[in-house]
Amino acid sequence: MKAVEPVREFGVAQALSKGTCPICALLREFQNDLIDTLAPCAAEYLCNFHAWAIAHATPATSVVRIFSRLLESGGANDWTRCGICEQVLKEEELRVHEVAKELGSRATLAQWLLRHGSICLNHATKLRAFVPDHLQEVVSQIVQRNLSEMKRDLDLYRKQIEHGTKAGGGVLGKIAEFLVSQRGITH
Ligand SMILES: [Zn+2]
Ligand SMILES: [Zn+2]
Repeated sequence: MKAVEPVREFGVAQALSKGTCPICALLREFQNDLIDTLAPCAAEYLCNFHAWAIAHATPATSVVRIFSRLLESGGANDWTRCGICEQVLKEEELRVHEVAKELGSRATLAQWLLRHGSICLNHATKLRAFVPDHLQEVVSQIVQRNLSEMKRDLDLYRKQIEHGTKAGGGVLGKIAEFLVSQRGITH
């Protein structure tokens, strides 16, 4: 299965503007695009997450084609061979390298991330393997700042619940992403 071209337009700068882990943001865009344009033969096997993601995807014609083929083949499935997971993992490798390269060549990017950026734990570990030595500490510092911000936000949220208001629940999704990456991106 070929990588989907239009997603390339979604670059690192745009991913950073999302305010969450830039690699997760890039992969989420890729995944959404992939699901929408998926050839049925590429979805011969699906994991639980991606089968449901396809069920809720648009356009419906593409979903119908994928599910028809799966039903015709008797629904044989093996979540360990999910075609979408496989593509997302390949894309992840490319994007981790891309962000590591940008970090190494643009000092302002490292500075900006240090002050304002977020990186999930999974991608921080993967990035550290590819950035130059002096940037490994930068990645660790970003993670440390993210950790303390999340502890603070969770504490604020707990206090809000105690006062009977559930506003601010977005913090829970942010923490989940920080801990395990965006939904469907890793297993
Ligand atoms: Zn991430
Ligand atoms: Zn999958």
